Parts: sequence; C-alpha cells; structure tokens
Amino acid sequence: SPKFIIDGLKASVEGKEILKGLNLTIQGGEIHAIMGPNGTGKSTLASTLMGHPKYEVTAGSVTLDGEDVLEMAVDVRARAGLFLAMQYPSEISGVTNSDFLRSAINAKRGEGNEISLIKFIRQMEKKMKELDMAAEFAHRYLNEGFSGGEKKRNEILQMMLLEPRICILDEIDSGLDIDALRIVAEGVNSLKSEDRGFLIITHYQRLLDYITPDFVHIMMQGRIVKSGGAELAEQVEKDGYDWIKDELGIVD
Ligand code: ADP
Ligand code: MG
Ligand code: MG
Repeated sequence: SPKFIIDGLKASVEGKEILKGLNLTIQGGEIHAIMGPNGTGKSTLASTLMGHPKYEVTAGSVTLDGEDVLEMAVDVRARAGLFLAMQYPSEISGVTNSDFLRSAINAKRGEGNEISLIKFIRQMEKKMKELDMAAEFAHRYLNEGFSGGEKKRNEILQMMLLEPRICILDEIDSGLDIDALRIVAEGVNSLKSEDRGFLIITHYQRLLDYITPDFVHIMMQGRIVKSGGAELAEQVEKDGYDWIKDELGIVD
C-alpha cells in the first residue's frame, strides 16, 4: 500500500513563491480532497508534484514509499506510479489517443515487458465502454477538438489504463455536465483500492457529492490551513471561505 508524504513543500514560479510550506500525507485506500479559493496554488501543487519544469522547489520534501520524488525525472515519477489528470489537458496533433495510451502504458511497463496490441485494445475498449466513450475516440488525435467533458473522460480513461498508485485530479469536474460528472466519479470510485491513494483538487463541493473523501483540506495562500472530514466540504459550500480566514486571522 503506497505512502506519499509531502513535507514543508515550498515552490516558486518565475521567482514568486506560491507554495509556502505545504504538508500532506496520503496513504493507499484514502481519498483526500483539497479545496480553496482561486489562485491559492492548487494547480501549482499538482504541477510541482509531477515535476513540471516551470515550478522550482525551494524547500521541503516529497516521498513515495520513502523514495525521493523530487529527485525523479518526470517519466520516472510516472513509472513510480504518480498520475496527474490535468485541469487543462493539452491537445497533441498527429498522435492518436490509442497510440498515446499504448506508449504511456509501455513506458510504465518498461522495455521487454510491452503490452500486446490485442490485449491493449481489449482493455481500452472495455474501459471506454465503462466511461460511455464512443469507439471513435480511440482513433482521434489526442484531445484535439474534444469538448471539455470529453477531455476529462479521456483523463480518467488514461488513469484506468495506467493503474497509478497516487492519482492527482486537478479540477476534473470543471466544465462537466451532471451526467459526465457522474461517469467520471464512478470511474474514480471504481479505482478506489488499498493499493491507491487519491488527491482530488476541486473548486466546488459538487464533485464530492459523488466521490466521498476521507479527508478534506482547505488550501489558502500556498498552505493547507484546515483539515477535516467530508463535512468540511459541505460547510465551505454553505458558508464560503471567509469564516476560515476569520478563524485563522488570514488577511488577503
Ligand atoms: P489555483 O489552482 O489554486 O487556482 P494556481 O496554482 O493556478 O492556483 O495559481 C497560483 C498562483 O501562481 C497564481 O497567482 C498564478 O498566477 C501563479 N502561477 C501559477 N502558474 C503560473 C505560471 N506558469 N506562470 C506564472 N504564474 C503562475
Ligand atoms: Mg484556478
Ligand atoms: Mg487550478
């Protein structure tokens, strides 16, 4: 069962400090949600954990089962089992969705252990059915001309096929209608296991009606300032963030 520990993480983008000492531990079987006002550094956290070159870590540590994640190159992080579903997935022209998925799976499995084409197609088609995706999406260029909802479903498809150990989902709910939201949530719920931990970043409580978090964390100004259970998300939905700022004496 994985153990992912973020300790005192500070990170800057273009010389400006965005993450200001963030602590969070995620274990297998746990779903953690991070909520927080816009611009508070939630996406920065996701990108920093995945090793995006724009984000410079200036302090702290991140470990997965005791291994130093910050020392790992981006592809090594993926192989170690980190996965990020992005708020804004990019479009890649000239690469079909199925080619992209197969290379991602093979990169993870390593040389000499590649998945057979037949087996890959069988798995992909099965998961696409579960996500209610039309078969043509396998052959379309990655995310090109996909609607917001289709992109998000495609991120979940990637996650289902890659079977990561730590899944980070950044605003996977934004731009989804209620049916797509339900399908995406069911995809996440179906992957919940002792071998996997989740970090779900969301601006709205709505997603958490479908995915019940074990822990909810409020992020403000680059730190987690308050943690609780699912009820904390409901309270934020009802009362906003001001009461937390008042409680903690945060001025912005
Ligand atoms: P959130 O996801 O909580 O809305 P972000 O992490 O996207 O917040 O942004 C936090 C702050 O970092 C913002 O002030 C934003 O402008 C800045 N920031 C994030 N990424 C970049 C970037 N690539 N270049 C410049 N500024 C950035
Ligand atoms: Mg934002
Ligand atoms: Mg964001």
